[in-house]
This record gives sequence, structure tokens and C-alpha cells, in this order.
Amino acid sequence: MTGQNATSQDTQTQESQAVQSDRPERELYLDAAASDAVPASVIEAMTPFLTEGYGNPSSVHASGKTAARALDAARASFATNLGAHAGDVIFTSGGTEADNLAVKGIALAQIRREREAGAAAATASTPTRASTPIPASASQYSPAHRILISAVEHPAVAQSAQWLHDFFDFEVVRIPVDAQAHIDLDALSREARRGATLACIMMANNEVGTIEPVSRAVRICHDAAVPVHVDAVQAAGTIPVDFRGLDADTLAVSGHKFGAPKGLGALLTRSRVAIEPIVSGGGQERGLRSGTPNVAGAIALAVALHEACAGMEERNAHLAASRDALIKAICEAVPGATLTGDPVNRLPGHASFTFPNVNGEALLVDLDARGIEVSSGSACAIGRHEAPGTLLAMGLSETEAKSALRFSFREPLHHTDIRRIAQALHASMTALYAM
Ligand code: PLP
Repeated sequence: MTGQNATSQDTQTQESQAVQSDRPERELYLDAAASDAVPASVIEAMTPFLTEGYGNPSSVHASGKTAARALDAARASFATNLGAHAGDVIFTSGGTEADNLAVKGIALAQIRREREAGAAAATASTPTRASTPIPASASQYSPAHRILISAVEHPAVAQSAQWLHDFFDFEVVRIPVDAQAHIDLDALSREARRGATLACIMMANNEVGTIEPVSRAVRICHDAAVPVHVDAVQAAGTIPVDFRGLDADTLAVSGHKFGAPKGLGALLTRSRVAIEPIVSGGGQERGLRSGTPNVAGAIALAVALHEACAGMEERNAHLAASRDALIKAICEAVPGATLTGDPVNRLPGHASFTFPNVNGEALLVDLDARGIEVSSGSACAIGRHEAPGTLLAMGLSETEAKSALRFSFREPLHHTDIRRIAQALHASMTALYAM
């Protein structure tokens, strides 16, 4: 039988129960691309700003000033580790909010500019009128109301672009990718030269680990006067990120991918690009993200990023060696297993595959029962088990895409762990085929 036919809930439950009895003691967590543990050092650094230095950084008293100083220091350290200036950093509630702020904020700023220019021109030409009505539809403004996004962007970017289409008639242009998920730079260049409000390119893909040619993409877009937002959520704290060196206009980062607690992130911005806030209020974070800043959270972000960047090169060499050993072991243990994404230019602790004639969700459940925790695609799609969008954009069929599993880790794997993963995968495949 095929794995596809073996995914009824009853059968899955029976299968999970069958292996539950000899469930190993120690779970192997291989889902760091979804989220990871917070090191004790990060908790230790942030805790005093929950228990003692708890003042509001906007307050003028001593406690407030202590909190403000800590926030400034965290911002400076965080910026340095991303090749940014302190003034570039807007702290947010995570990668999703940072992506939303960049995509929606840049488009809304363009709409504001056009409205103001339209109103000024109308007032000048009709001096007797006190005010000029604002056009009802954004499509009346400019033919360049276009957002270019790579076809493999995370939903935080893709859905923000879709929102601009739904509410403001922006055209969303998906730039295709090749079979390893690299953005098609010729297509990007063609579309950028037709004019656009913004182009969005991720630095590293969450589903297949491919590192994108962002530097070249930024140059292509800037040659056509199109600003660029880079989603660096999977890259920051994992591979070097140099915001100013890259010359991107905005860049999104998420803390829980590199050892900070969940719900923390940042958007890096250059002052040359206008952004309209999407969270309004007291004007914190240069007016771009109102709300009392999360001081302890900012410290956690700074410390976690600092630790992730220290010794990154050496750690990545070990991670890449583990990754390649894991890829080899899995391909030997499961005939027909196929690595997805770029085999070389990929995140160091990321191995993703499709498997023959099996449903990835069933495989994931079975592996979980054997103490191996992996993902069947992006974390956001789990539970719905939609085919991972990146794999479809790479040209895989829906059935192939639904057979995908992702193994991601931030610590090198021991060879006994690699053997255990490969054996478990072999056992799971055998169990699912035999059902
Ligand atoms: N962008 C990418 C590439 C991601 O992988 C994720 C999360 O996995 C996000 C954005 C969203 O980040 P957050 O979980 O901090 O909202």
C-alpha cells in the first residue's frame, strides 16, 4: 500500500500507540527553524528588568531612566550584530509584525504622499476650493502600485501584500523561483523596470533552507529605483547579516529563531524609505511602532543575538558537517528520499526532503511517537497540512510537496543521533508502507 492511503486517523492512532510503548526517553528536537530553547544566560540577562528595573522607559523618574538606558544599550548591541545603526532598529512583537510593518507601511506611505501631492496640486489649480476630496480608490493614483514578492515568501509577507491588493488595489506580482527555490533574477529585473512600490525577497527560505541571492536582488531593484524589504527571519543569528552592507531598505528579524523568547523581533529601516506606522499610539520607536517598549525583551534579543553571532563561523562549520552527514544517512536509509532546496548554499542546520509515496504528516506523527520531533513544512501550515508553498513554487506536485519533512537544528548532531534519526525514519517508512 502507499502511505497516502494509510493516513486515516484511526490507523494513525493505532500506529502511534504501537510505538508509544517503547518511546525513547530522550526526545530529539529537530524543529529549530520553528522555534528554539532560550538559553539560561538570556533569561538571566533579562530577568532584572522584570523584577527590579521595571520602570517604563518613557517615564522621567530614575527608574524610567534606568530602563531607557538599558533599552538604548540593547538597541545598540542588537544593531551592531546586524551591521545596522542603533537608529535603524524598530523593536516589534516578532517577524510577522516586522514584515507587516515593512510591506504595509511602505505602501501606505506612498499612498499618503500621493494624496498629499494630489491635494496640493488640486488646491493650487482651484484656489477657490477649501479642500480637495481624496480619491476613493488607490488605483486612481499611480500605475506603479505594484508589490513584487518572490514566490516563496513567508505568509507574513505574502499575506501583507495580499492585504494591499484587497484594500488598496495593489497588484501583487509573484517572481518565480527555480527548482532549488532561488529567485529568478531576470524576472525580478524585468518586473522592477516596470515600476513597483516595493520588492520583497527573503534571505533564507524557511521550508527548504536555500540562501537567496539577496545582494544581487537588491542591486537589481535599486537600479530600477524600487526599494527592497528583506525577510531575514531564518537568517539572523544563523548566518551573517549585514543590513547596511546589503543596502536593503528594510529587514525583518525574529528573536525566537536565535534564542530569545517568542513574540520578540525587529524591523531594521533606513531613513531614506518612508514608512507609515500600522500600530498607532504614543509614538514610541520613532513613531513607527507605538506601545510601551518591552525592555526585558529587547535585552533578551540583544544578548541572544550576541551569543548566536559569537563563534558563528566555527559553529556553522560543525552544523554543516552534521547536516551533510544527516542528509547522507537519510538518503541511504530511505530509498527515494530527495533533498529539497540548494544542496550547498543552504542554512547550516537545515535538511529538508520529500519521501516517496508517503504523507509527510503521517510520517511526522510516527516519528514523533519514536521521539523524533520534526516539521512537515512551515510552522504556520502545521495543523492544516497544506502542501508547503515553497515546494509548489519550485515545481513539485501537490503529492510530492505533501510528503515533505524538515529537520532543523542549532546545535551540531552527535553521530549516534544521526544514526537514530535515520533508523527511526526507516522504521516509520516501513510501518507506514506495511499498514
Ligand atoms: N518569516 C519567515 C521566513 C519565517 O520563517 C517566520 C516564522 O517562521 C516568520 C517570518 C514569522 O516570524 P514570527 O514567528 O516571529 O512571527
